[in-house]
Amino acid sequence: MRYIEPHAHMVSRVTDDYQAMVLAGCQAVCEPAFWAGFDRGSVAGFRDYFDQITLHEPKRAAKYLLPHYCWLCINPKESEDTVLADDVLAVIPEYLDRPNVLGIGEIGLNKNSRNELAVFEKHVDLAARHGQLILIHTPHLEDKRKGTRLILDVLKNEKRIDPGRVLIDHVEEHTVRMVLDGGFWGGITLYPESKCTAARAADILEIYSGCNLWMNSACDWGHSDPLAVPKACLELRKRGHSAEEIDRIVYSNPVRFLSQTGKFNEPCGL
Ligand SMILES: [Zn+2]
Repeated sequence: MRYIEPHAHMVSRVTDDYQAMVLAGCQAVCEPAFWAGFDRGSVAGFRDYFDQITLHEPKRAAKYLLPHYCWLCINPKESEDTVLADDVLAVIPEYLDRPNVLGIGEIGLNKNSRNELAVFEKHVDLAARHGQLILIHTPHLEDKRKGTRLILDVLKNEKRIDPGRVLIDHVEEHTVRMVLDGGFWGGITLYPESKCTAARAADILEIYSGCNLWMNSACDWGHSDPLAVPKACLELRKRGHSAEEIDRIVYSNPVRFLSQTGKFNEPCGL
């Protein structure tokens, strides 16, 4: 099998993870900018991080023949400091032309606060001004439905944004319909504890078969599994889904969405 890992925080992972992903059929990995597990203290910390995911991490992935792409932003968890957020937003354009940068992400909301929403709107404006794709993080658990609604309202009111160029990640049973009905792409995140299990993801995919959805592991520095996507494929195979249908979800759909950047090259096979 072949698949794209469209959401993985590889700076947090060891090289064995790269090897295991490639052996499982991974053809490309995409790394959204993320919270480091602690709040960075200055824009200089973000500059170092943007260099890490645009310059260093692609070289580390290349040792395993894996193309590496990334997304840039200040994560919603760090958006409470609006002065720092403005400083970071001001430097992002310097990095947008780097060859592995796919767009602005993962932006969105975490606790649905006023400051998070203000910084989210500034990111959307930045993406619109620079013609960038957008990758959205939606809140966890009880905040998810409200946060997803707030995010959709901002995006729908921004006439410069084409919903087909926005992917809203971490959708679950109670948010997937509103995302797809709005013309947006949806991402199903597979986590061992929170977010979706392989079985829940398969249930969603069976209901919304043929829709603009992908799956990702969102593996990071916490309890997560860089092989969650191929494991979910096994769940789909056990339920009788064809190899062609699975390939559409985990390979063709990500290629279709990401190719809108013009920077994402369809993998030639490992
Ligand atoms: Zn993430």
